[in-house]
Amino acid sequence: MSHRVTLIPGDGIGPEVTAAARLVAGATGVDIDWEVVEAGERAIQAHGTPLPDEVFDSIRRNRLALKGPITTPIGGGFRSVNVALRQQLDLYASVRPARAIAGEGTRFPETDLVVVREATEGLYSGVEHWVDRDHTAAETVNIVTRKASDRIVRFAFELARREHRRHVTAVHKANIMKTTGALFQTAFQEMAAKYPDIRADERLIDNMCMQLVKKPEEYSVIVTTNLFGDILSDLCAGLAGGLGVAPGALYGDTIAVFEPVHGSAPKYAGQDKADPVAEILCVELLLRHLGEAEAADRVFRAVWETIAEKKVVTYDLALPGYTLRPVSPSSCSAMAKEVARKVPLVDLSAPLSTPANPASSYDSHLEG
Ligand code: NAD
Repeated sequence: MSHRVTLIPGDGIGPEVTAAARLVAGATGVDIDWEVVEAGERAIQAHGTPLPDEVFDSIRRNRLALKGPITTPIGGGFRSVNVALRQQLDLYASVRPARAIAGEGTRFPETDLVVVREATEGLYSGVEHWVDRDHTAAETVNIVTRKASDRIVRFAFELARREHRRHVTAVHKANIMKTTGALFQTAFQEMAAKYPDIRADERLIDNMCMQLVKKPEEYSVIVTTNLFGDILSDLCAGLAGGLGVAPGALYGDTIAVFEPVHGSAPKYAGQDKADPVAEILCVELLLRHLGEAEAADRVFRAVWETIAEKKVVTYDLALPGYTLRPVSPSSCSAMAKEVARKVPLVDLSAPLSTPANPASSYDSHLEG
């Protein structure tokens, strides 16, 4: 059966990493019919808007999309295309797995957690204004509703059950934000009572940051509001090996959009240099969502083996500072070809390869 999926190449390194992801998807043998639509800078040139109606029409029709990163101007200019997509398609759950791959580039090779971030409200509601005419004071409104809090915490507990994860941690700042924080906290506590099989606990955001950089292996599913989730998912991407290897997914009730945690990295655009792994692992998540579990396992395994073997990896996985085994960096397209080549060859029943240099020696390398 063919699966029709919207493909948004995006800006900056987006076209390169989405081409890489398509190549790897093709190697799985799963029949995907890509419907390519433009959003971001290329859409402005063609349609005069960064987010033409055809993008919404295509995603609503197919209910599935693979997306490259899209640039958002800082300060002035148009509002974020990414935030607009989430709000208008009601993609309320941003799910970002942070899994250390082959022990590379991480001090914490045991890291395996998922950040579930509320993606439609909070401090990203877009309600903000200058308080006075001279622009000496400004307000951004933090909107937290019971409806959105209930559905995101339910989503986190359901994900924990589905993925056989036994622990959900809510992150908030209810000691200072006495209304918005407390509302989210109450929604979490009441939902937790309905999932007695799953351990539920809470952390204040500041404490959570400290806990994560000391012992990330103690956490499994983290559920939180929009801004805290944005920050924590980058933090967790760093713990697990960096932005180059961190995939993500956005879920609504009927639509799913897969996109990496990283942005458009404009300084690497058009150089065939960026790491394609985050976008390739978005294909893994997409295949899992489609029920194509074996193909998804093959993609993950092929990425793992490529990084563990370390013959064909991009600059971020190759250079000193990231790894104890520096090698000459390969291009984005060469690494994608290597992963795609491995997809049909990997042995899913074999244990995952362990790289030659154990990550436990990473600390001494950095300190030496
Ligand atoms: P960024 O993630 O684009 O880049 C930060 C740095 O991380 C890069 O300079 C590069 O060193 C590294 N990096 C990121 N992706 C990489 C990859 N695949 N391979 C190798 N190295 C990689 O973050 P930024 O510079 O803050 O943002 C650039 C633009 O992207 C901004 O306009 C921002 O708004 C946008 N953005 C979009 C999304 C999205 O589309 N979902 C997400 C984040 C940022």
